[in-house]
Amino acid sequence: MGEVNSLVCSLSERASARMLYAVHRDILQRKIIVTGGAGFLGSHLCERLLRSGHRVVCIDNFSTGNMQNILHLLSFDTFRVISHDIVTPFDLEADEIYNLACPASPPHYQADPVHTTLTSVLGAHGLLTLARKYNARIFQASTSEVYGDPYVHPQVETYWGNVNPFGPRSCYDEGKRCAETLFFDFHKAYGTEIKIVRIFNTYGPRMRPDDGRVVSNFIVQALKGEDITIYGDGTQTRSFCYVDDLIDGFVRMMAADTSVTGPVNLGNPAEFMIGDLAKTVIELTGSRSRIVHHPLPIDDPRQRRPDIALAKHELDWQPQVQLTEGLRKTIAYFESRLSLSAPELREMVK
Ligand code: NAD
Ligand code: UDP
Repeated sequence: MGEVNSLVCSLSERASARMLYAVHRDILQRKIIVTGGAGFLGSHLCERLLRSGHRVVCIDNFSTGNMQNILHLLSFDTFRVISHDIVTPFDLEADEIYNLACPASPPHYQADPVHTTLTSVLGAHGLLTLARKYNARIFQASTSEVYGDPYVHPQVETYWGNVNPFGPRSCYDEGKRCAETLFFDFHKAYGTEIKIVRIFNTYGPRMRPDDGRVVSNFIVQALKGEDITIYGDGTQTRSFCYVDDLIDGFVRMMAADTSVTGPVNLGNPAEFMIGDLAKTVIELTGSRSRIVHHPLPIDDPRQRRPDIALAKHELDWQPQVQLTEGLRKTIAYFESRLSLSAPELREMVK
């Protein structure tokens, strides 16, 4: 009986602690796990959370991320970095978990497709189990790739997508789809507080020069005076979001009411043809690079643009940074990363 009483007591204490937490979450220092925290997006998220006064633990296997992205954060005594692969479960108490761990660039996620699927599926399962144990709120970095090569345009969250289950992109697309399923099943079965965002192509400082995605490829090629490689005829479209806008959306999503589970699209609805992106990068860098055409990769989506009505309504969020402005900042980053300014590079390739 005593045991039952203490159980009831501890349950009601936990419920009121939870309520108190909900009321004061904006002013409390929270303990936050960011998986994939040494990657492009993850490093910006860690920085944002640390600057807001939270304790942050970055968990990363450093497969596509690197210490250089987070070196400047080591001066925060509220920051911890743990080298770990999320395919293997771990135990760490947290108030919130952001799951960003997964290679995002096609050449990187296709390099070890089995591991990519396991990262999304086993990784999500391990982290959801942790969230359940510690009553933590958990965020999933899902992707526009869940829509595959979409027939519905722009993409709305209610669209189920058009995904090849066994093509070269499937390890990523299907892994992310299955992770969404796991998130919702934990939510339904155990009441786990979930937050799922579907991220559309995002770019900015701290992308790797060899990342392989289109914005970093074009900028690095332009700065080095190398050929700019358009895959296919360049009429396929993408919508590009600047990293600061996206991170703002992440934080708003995590702070949103419990009822806002997502999936919510986060991306910039301005849509561009890849051929036009190449021309814009050439113009902004003043490069003398030539445009060359390579074969279009298998299953490359023809078009992509987010419908962000839900994000506007639920999160009061929409991107602020226009493509030209974001590209200028990203070009400046790569110039310093490559240790040469654009005019110096242009001299070299004359
Ligand atoms: P990124 O490759 O720069 O970052 C991924 C990070 O996860 C890296 O630091 C990597 O080392 C780490 N990682 C990978 N597998 C891991 C594992 N098994 N265990 C621990 N750490 C692991 O990519 P990004 O652009 O920063 O993407 C971050 C997240 O956002 C990914 O989940 C990605 O699917 C998602 N996303 C990004 C975009 C985008 O345009 N940037 C679009 C859609 C979705
Ligand atoms: N792409 C390109 N040249 C490159 C890299 C990519 O033309 O050097 C194209 C690619 O085929 C796709 C688009 O740019 O149509 C976006 O590719 P990315 O890999 O950045 O993202 P995703 O295909 O996952 O949206």
